[in-house]
Amino acid sequence: MKGNINVQTENIFPVIKKFLYSDHEIFLRELVSNATDATQKLKALVSMGQASVELGDLTINIKIDGNKLIISDRGIGMSQEEVEKYINQIAFSGAEDFLEKYKNVSENLIGHFGLGFYSAFMVADKVEIRTKSYTDAPAVEWMCDGSPEYTMKEIDKTDRGTDIILHIADDSKEFLEENRILDLLKKYCRFMPVAICFGEESYWVDSETKKDKDGKPEREEKKRPRIINDTNPAWKKKPTDLTDEDYRKFYHELYPMNFEDPLFQIHLNVDYPFNLTGILYFPKVKRTIDPNRNKIQLYCNQVFVTDSVEGVVPEYLMLLHGVLDSPDIPLNVSRSYLQSDSNVKKISSHISKKVADKLEELFKNNREDFEAKWDDLKIFIEYGMLSEEKFFDRAEKFSLLKNVDKQYFTFEDYKKKIEPLQTDKDKVLVYLYATNAEEQHAYIAKAKEKGYDVLLMDTVLDNHFVNLLEQKWSGTRFVRVDSDVVEKLIPKEDSIPEKLSKEEQEKLKPIIESEIDTKKYTVMLESLEETDQPMLITQNEFMRRYKEMSMMGGGGMSFYGELPESYNLVVNINHPLVGEILNDTDQEHQKELVHQLTDLALLSNGLLKGEALTNFINRSVKIIK
Ligand code: ADP
Repeated sequence: MKGNINVQTENIFPVIKKFLYSDHEIFLRELVSNATDATQKLKALVSMGQASVELGDLTINIKIDGNKLIISDRGIGMSQEEVEKYINQIAFSGAEDFLEKYKNVSENLIGHFGLGFYSAFMVADKVEIRTKSYTDAPAVEWMCDGSPEYTMKEIDKTDRGTDIILHIADDSKEFLEENRILDLLKKYCRFMPVAICFGEESYWVDSETKKDKDGKPEREEKKRPRIINDTNPAWKKKPTDLTDEDYRKFYHELYPMNFEDPLFQIHLNVDYPFNLTGILYFPKVKRTIDPNRNKIQLYCNQVFVTDSVEGVVPEYLMLLHGVLDSPDIPLNVSRSYLQSDSNVKKISSHISKKVADKLEELFKNNREDFEAKWDDLKIFIEYGMLSEEKFFDRAEKFSLLKNVDKQYFTFEDYKKKIEPLQTDKDKVLVYLYATNAEEQHAYIAKAKEKGYDVLLMDTVLDNHFVNLLEQKWSGTRFVRVDSDVVEKLIPKEDSIPEKLSKEEQEKLKPIIESEIDTKKYTVMLESLEETDQPMLITQNEFMRRYKEMSMMGGGGMSFYGELPESYNLVVNINHPLVGEILNDTDQEHQKELVHQLTDLALLSNGLLKGEALTNFINRSVKIIK
């Protein structure tokens, strides 16, 4: 029998080829998932008592044979009428509709094209179907060489099920390579629910006949069929049936190249109002996070779809690891549509809520353990709080602040701790923080002397986070410990009496200015304790913070990024050495003194470099002599 495939366009196959160009390899996923579906359907029929057949071995077999790739299943099979109905009557009304429907494909559209069986023509110039239904209907062979014409005839196939035989086209020879097919099966079919066999694998056993010279049996290599999938992956099991060890094992099964254990996991299991299962793992955060490794994988009924989960997972959770499986995520649409789909939005906010619940539970049940994990969790939580109002409100309860002494506090406890000493004269609560405990050591020490506490805010997001907290909490201010002299970090009523008169101060300022780069350093005379340093460098909190944020690429802040680095040179007018500068009559000596003091201030901030540093050292040696 001959016939025409029911599509109005002259020849649909060049169109299929062209439009699915970027993703030829998915033909294998389509054909193997058809085989899986056919097998599952038969199992269902048998279990409902609607088919009485011996199921037998249901393994799906994939074979390379010369220039043919063959996919065989032992599922329900098809009768001639069914081939007619399911294969020949393609539901496209014409090329125009087809183009309309698939115009986004070339933009790397995710997943399922709904094209199923016909994707075979992306890689084959001739396709045969040999199939025998589980009913009494005779077996049929269908053959098509890529033109809209096909032939169909009865054959002698006694075994139930379907063989799809692809005659691989010359430009697709890669799909005849064992390793290429193995990789594809591992990528798309790794967790499909029916066993899939491809080739053989070796294993070693004790020989029954051969013994070595000590009389021990020799090791003997044997071969067995290679099953490439895990038909019952952890995310499909009940959480109560899994131990932490099982979760860890599954993590390493998923990411064989990652040797670190995850921190903990969240097992998702929802069936209303959408269907979603999966396991999300919180990884240990490395200094440099590589967002392209160990990505979350999206499955549709155990068939791998993609590892681009934008939209499905809230952005701040994209660095989590694990799997999501949902038949309710529309896979045949473009990504921009995906983000506006209401199911997808619901899934995304469900994930967000589950994550918050889990974190809160960890915090409540084992505070010590939660603190131990905090440094790794911090980035996710801060990112979440920055990007989602709702998450901020939830996380406020369990989010922690860490100080330079590695103690952890909840927001509430920390506020109580610093309130008595760190409230300034205007009743503003001042949070002091350091971004680098080593480099800012001198300033931290000064602040501690005053009884202040200093937080450690040393991650990439902290500038933004500090801004957010200032917005959320009225009457609070965050200042980095080195942004001003300690007396001024938290201004209080009582000021220290000034040792130099106003005239003397006016005389002093230009003397100092003449010896430094005034474009970079602004000289500020301050009345500090006599025992404080004679000169020190500070950096305006807001200028620094905005400059750093603009360098990270915050929107609309490029203005700050273009500003030159600027610092304050604070001169302690109560220090005896500063008084000495003013009274020095030997101009050379006066210059030397100014240089020496400014250099010391620069040095303690790591700002003295190159020639200036060499000059300072030479000058110091001379002075010691
Ligand atoms: P889809 O799988 O999305 O329905 P396909 O074009 O892949 O679209 O397949 C069309 C139909 O052909 C299937 O729904 C199924 O009824 C039938 N079919 C395809 N492959 C097989 C198979 N291996 N065994 C039995 N029936 C099959």
